Amino acid sequence: MKWYPLDSIRYGHRDKLAEGGLVAYDFKAWRVIEIRPMDDESRISVRLRPVADDWTALGRNDIHLSAGKYHQFDRLPEHYSVCVKCGDIQPCREVTAERDAAEAMERAERYDVFLRCPACLETVTPRQKQISFQENVVAILGPMVTFHLRSKCQGWAVDYEKKWAKVTGGKITLSCEGHQIGHHDGTRTCLNIECPSPSEATHGRYSACWVMNAACNRPECMAVIDEYLTKREAKHA
Ligand SMILES: [Zn+2]
Ligand SMILES: [Zn+2]
Ligand SMILES: [Zn+2]
Ligand SMILES: [Zn+2]
Repeated sequence: MKWYPLDSIRYGHRDKLAEGGLVAYDFKAWRVIEIRPMDDESRISVRLRPVADDWTALGRNDIHLSAGKYHQFDRLPEHYSVCVKCGDIQPCREVTAERDAAEAMERAERYDVFLRCPACLETVTPRQKQISFQENVVAILGPMVTFHLRSKCQGWAVDYEKKWAKVTGGKITLSCEGHQIGHHDGTRTCLNIECPSPSEATHGRYSACWVMNAACNRPECMAVIDEYLTKREAKHA
């Protein structure tokens, strides 16, 4: 799970990562010593020096991170909170681990009742659109997992299926990494020829085919634009 340092400064355009500033990285505070562009112009190399370290002056424990030009570092103000017990920046490793464990437990509890949708925690009845997975990959030894296939539960089902596929090697049917295109007659196609379902699957990328600007040569879309032009001509006649 991602770690969010307690005191990190919200990122703004005006006030970017700068040499001399502080960043939080791997539960410690670091001073930014140098920022250099890399050969690949989309990346930068950042040299960091541990703040709470006796070696500071020697620069021996400096580390170099390579990051995308727009990577959002967790910048810190000069005054930041440190855990008294372990010296980490707050929240420290131990607290973070405890929180993650508590969240994992809570998550597992959502998945341990037969025919109860883990997303909305309501029972899935036979008449509702649904999807079931024999393998429960969240609550080990838990029952088979069933989700509603309705908009408020779909996102959970999509995420679960990805996780399930990784563990079991099963085939993903609810989502597609391809690029979905919506056409003028309401149909949807996908640039991924192995798309499980261009109309039903959740897609990461979507665009409309916009026959007006760049011709889409599907006969159905051409028909729509023909009709539009005919109507427009009739209006101006
Ligand atoms: Zn601690
Ligand atoms: Zn549900
Ligand atoms: Zn089209
Ligand atoms: Zn697709």
